[in-house]
Formats: sequence, structure tokens, C-alpha cells
Amino acid sequence: MKYADSNYTATATRSFDELYQTSLDNPTDFWRQQAERIYWHKQPDTILDDSKLPFAKWFVGGETNICYNCVDRHLEERAEQDAFVWVSSEINQDLIDNHPGVVDAFKALDNHVEFYTDYAKRRLTYNRLYKEVNYFADVLQRLGVGKGDRVIIYMPMILEAAYAMLACTRIGAIHSVVFGGFAAHNLAVRMNDAQAKLVITVDAGLRGGKVINYKNLVNQGIEQADNKPENVLVVDRGIMPYQPQPIDVDYATERRISCDAKAVVDPVWLESNEPCYLLYTSGTTGTPKGVQRDTGGHAVALTTSIDLIYDGKPGDTFWAISDIGWAVGHSYTIYAPLLAGMTSIMYEGLPHRPNPGIWWRIVEANKVNILFTAPTGVRMLKKQDESWLTRYNTSSVKSFFLAGEPLDEPTADWLSGHLGVPILDHYWQTETGWPILSHVPKFDYKDHKPGSPGYPMYGFNAKVLNEETGEPCQPGEKGLLAISAPLPPGCLTTVWNNDERFIKSYYNLFNGKEYSSSDYAMTDENGYFYILGRTDDVINVAGHRLGTQEIEAAISEHPEVAEVGVVGIKDELKGELPIAFCILRDPSIIEDTENRFRVEQQIFGIVAKSLGALARPAAVYFPTALPKTRSGKILRRAIRALAEGRDTGDMSTLDDPTAIDAVKAAIDSY
Ligand code: AMP
Repeated sequence: MKYADSNYTATATRSFDELYQTSLDNPTDFWRQQAERIYWHKQPDTILDDSKLPFAKWFVGGETNICYNCVDRHLEERAEQDAFVWVSSEINQDLIDNHPGVVDAFKALDNHVEFYTDYAKRRLTYNRLYKEVNYFADVLQRLGVGKGDRVIIYMPMILEAAYAMLACTRIGAIHSVVFGGFAAHNLAVRMNDAQAKLVITVDAGLRGGKVINYKNLVNQGIEQADNKPENVLVVDRGIMPYQPQPIDVDYATERRISCDAKAVVDPVWLESNEPCYLLYTSGTTGTPKGVQRDTGGHAVALTTSIDLIYDGKPGDTFWAISDIGWAVGHSYTIYAPLLAGMTSIMYEGLPHRPNPGIWWRIVEANKVNILFTAPTGVRMLKKQDESWLTRYNTSSVKSFFLAGEPLDEPTADWLSGHLGVPILDHYWQTETGWPILSHVPKFDYKDHKPGSPGYPMYGFNAKVLNEETGEPCQPGEKGLLAISAPLPPGCLTTVWNNDERFIKSYYNLFNGKEYSSSDYAMTDENGYFYILGRTDDVINVAGHRLGTQEIEAAISEHPEVAEVGVVGIKDELKGELPIAFCILRDPSIIEDTENRFRVEQQIFGIVAKSLGALARPAAVYFPTALPKTRSGKILRRAIRALAEGRDTGDMSTLDDPTAIDAVKAAIDSY
């Protein structure tokens, strides 16, 4: 067991187990100490108010400001350190040749960009970030935005999106970032639910060289919404000309006014439990839930996690390869690295463009220390020539964290084999905003268990309970992953404007005492957890429950399978039957019927062997692509619909529409 070497004396010499146990037995002491990591304008009166569970309140009476903690607090020691390095592989010479306005647009915003043939780059010190965030906050105030107002941010991965988020938190406005892949309807739903006063957007985004007309989508969203925003603030990137609407405001023009006035906006001190942001996530009913995040708990939890989970130090470089539209992007591209005084990489682009070496090239150039992404991106790279990985010096990387979906061992092995660092699976949800389960390199390098996302983190009293009885499951027994209330700081405090839905969605089982994750899990004898799939992705074959992800994990052991999605389809006899959709490393091998038969039989065999004949897929299809959300989750619902000959329904989260045709073609060719 390794011990901490942090400057933070209160935790410097204690083992993980000791710290974790304190966080459960004496949460008040534990979190009082952790709260010292951030600046409080007024110290909390009470660390935890658990008198109205499941509505827990942390650091009651304390006043702080997240933006101040992310930016101002570092000016004394690290004004000239990079807060962000922004890299865009979308802004390349080709794009500039076709859209020359891009260069002028950067100039209009005083952006010092370095242009290269196949990418563009901006470095931004804490000092410069401070100025830009103040200008942005000043613009927001001139537009009448103040404490408690809701602001929708619909922007791609550009620095102005980070300024917008930080500027909102500076003035106490509540931001709600909407993922750029969402369309007008999704925007309208959020405008209505959040009763947004302002929308911040861009003229256009870029994805794989394709121009995405953000402004137009916002216009359509406003048309559809019952609650119309008062203004739309547009950061014009010079990519796509747009017809200004009466409520549109040009950011560059407004920023110039603030910049000329050298505007400084005092941070608004918020009581710890006042909301910092809303992030909408899909629920089991069609309407998304506005996950509401608090202020003080959020700042304390994220800062703690950087030290005690990710083992990050001030000055280190952290790269969460995500999108600001997701919880990972909020927590680990924007807030946590800045709270901890690190440099964060912000990347606009795809993993394989201009070539599959781009991630590693960015790692080398910026000496990235800690990486974090979802397994899908890695699997995508695994399909390419692996020499791309070995061309670059990645020795700065200390650890690589993965989350968001199950990490299959071949992918983890492939990555760790090449990078020579631990690949650490960890598990969390939008609702928690930071890891529920993790491996902790600082303490436990040697005890890293492949196949498991680790063990519960500080304050998460996570357990596996029998769904019907609520009794604790024995090691090896499958049950529902639950967390005893109160959840630690930083987790959702409620569903925006809907306390009832908060209780119904998360606390309706087990007398309201346990938060339900909607994930199946089991533990082993040593307390390591294994995630067995969403309760809603589970299929029932002849009265037996099977996790589609368990079957996928088994099939991905097949050396010729690059990626797999398993769904359950209706079967008159057995209720449901699993069927598998496998992307092969070399799709041409199945052109030969004998080969196809061999691979199919091997897949049936692998599943039967590891999970039993019951789990054996009824059929295996070989598409060339799988439909996924832009965050990389396989859209099983769509695959299931196609396999059952139904309409796929709402596909607004779909990343690549051609994947639907690929699945159809595979089914038709069977
Ligand atoms: P989201 O809130 O969209 O990030 O999704 C959270 C869900 O992703 C969890 O409830 C799990 O179903 C899944 N998930 C997250 N991390 C992991 C992981 N490490 N292993 C398996 N599933 C995961």
C-alpha cells in the first residue's frame, strides 16, 4: 500500500481505507478538513444538515464562489501558468482557405492563435483567463443577467464556452450547457424547463470538417419553445454568416466595450447550497431531468477528487477528453483542473483526425500528466494502425482514467501495453459529478483490479442490494448498486423545480434511504465492485435476467471482434433473446461463408462458456458501424428497434446517421 505524499497535511499520512472509513463514520470531520482546500468568503456554520433526507445540505451558511476559486485565487502564484491549452484539429489550413473569416473572427476577440497546417492552438494563462472571464461577466451583467437567472450555453469546444460557464458562476447565474449534438427540440425542452433568460451560442461548430449550423438550431429551438429567452449572445467564429435576429447580440462587439473599460466584476458570494448549474440528463420517461448541482459542495468535492482520486498536483496538466455538454466536461475539463491550479487541455476535434495519432501528439506537445476519456474513443483508435501510438513520447502520462461505459479488458490491455501506465476504470454518473467508484493510484497502484471500476470513494456508502428485499447481496451475487443517503458533497441536490421527481427517480426503493443508481453490480470478496449494466438495459430470457453488457464483455474476448453491442429482442417462447452486433477488426473475413460460420460459432461458444447457454446470442450480425450517442454510448434502443423491424424513434442524440444503415444492411444480409 502506498501512502499519500500530498502537501495537505490532514491526509498526508493516512491510508485510503482509513480515510474512506472516516468519511463514512465521521463525515463532518472528513469534509470539514476537505473544505479547507477552497476559499470561503464566509466559513460554513454547519458541515452537514441531514435533517430532511434525502435532501442533504453541505457546508450550510458557508459563502463562496466557484469562479473565484477557479481563477482569482491562483493569480498570486500562477498568473503566468497556462490555465487552458486549446487545440482544434477542425481549424486547419483547409478550413481557413474555405472560410477566411475565421482568422478575422479570432482577431476580433483578441485571440492569439497559432495556426498550423492541420490544427490550431491557443494557450491561455490564468491571468488572461481572469481578464476574459471578467469581460464575459460584464457583458452578461449588461444584458441584465444576475444571480439565479438561467443561461443556456449551446457551444462547441472553444474557450469562449469556458469563459461563459465561469462568467455565469462568477455572477451567480445558473448555467445549463446543452450538448452541441442535440437539436432544436432538445434546446426547446431545456429552454422551457429551465425558463432560460439568455442563450449563448456560436454561428457554427465543426465536426470532422462538417459545418454545423448552431445559430440556426438555436433559432429553431426558440421558435419551438414556449419560454423564449430575452437575448441570444452569439460568439461569431466567422465560419457561417447568419442573419441577426432582433434579440441577437454580437459577443465581439460587447466584449470590446468591456475590454476598453478594463471591466472587473466582483464575484457574487453564494450560500453553499445555492445552485451552480443544471445539466439535463435522460430519464426513463421521455423528458430530461435537470440535475441540479450546488456551489460549495461541488467545489470541495472536485478539489478533493483531484488530490485523493486522480493524484493531480497544481501545475500538472489534465486532459479530460470529453465535451462540455457532458458531466465529465463540466467537472474535469473545466472546473476541477482549475480549482486545483492545473492546466486543462480543451480539444475540438475527433480522435482520428487528421490521423489516429492526434491524441498522442497533443499529449507529447503538452506533457499531459493525467488522461481521462470513455472507452469508446480508445476502441476507435484500437481499430487503427497501432504504430500511431508509439510514434510519440507519452512518458509524461502518469495514469489514464476511463469511465462512462464498461471497459473491456482487451481495450485496457491494449492501452496499458502501449502507454506503460495503469489504465484505471472508474464509475460515476451525471448525478454525482465525480467518481462513486474508482481505483486510487495515489494509494493503491498495486491493488488495481482489471475488470472492476474499483471500490467506493470518499463519502459514497455504496453497496449492492437485493432489488426485491433491499437486503445486502453477498459477494458474487448480483443486485442493485445503491448508495446510502446522504450522498457526499457535489452530488445532485434535487431535480430542477421538481423535488418529487428527484425522490421518485432516485429514492423510491428501500424507504427513501438509499439512492438507486439504476445499475446492476456485484462485489468480490475484497470489496471491489463490478458493474453489470443498467437496470433498463437488462433482458429477461426465459425468466432469467441477463445484462447485455455481460454478454458484450464475453464476446469482446474474441480476438477478431473490435466492438460489440448486444440487445434483447422479443421472442414468443422465451420472452427475450439476446442478439449480437459485432464490428470485426477485418470485416472482409466474413465475405467467405465458411469463415463467417466459424466466427459465429466461436462467438456462440465464448458466450456459452463464460455465461452459460442461456446467454448465447440467437444471432450474430456483422455491421460496419454501430449507432452511438455523441458521448459514445451504444444506442441499444435503436438497434433493438431495427432488429425488431420497428421505427427507431427519436434519434436526436445519434452521432453518425450512416450507422443506422450499416445495422440495417447487416440484418438484411443475414
Ligand atoms: P452518464 O450519467 O451519462 O455519465 O451515465 C452514467 C452511467 O454510465 C452509469 O449509470 C453506468 O450505467 C455507466 N457507467 C459509467 N461509468 C461506468 C464504468 N466505469 N463501467 C460501467 N458502466 C459505467
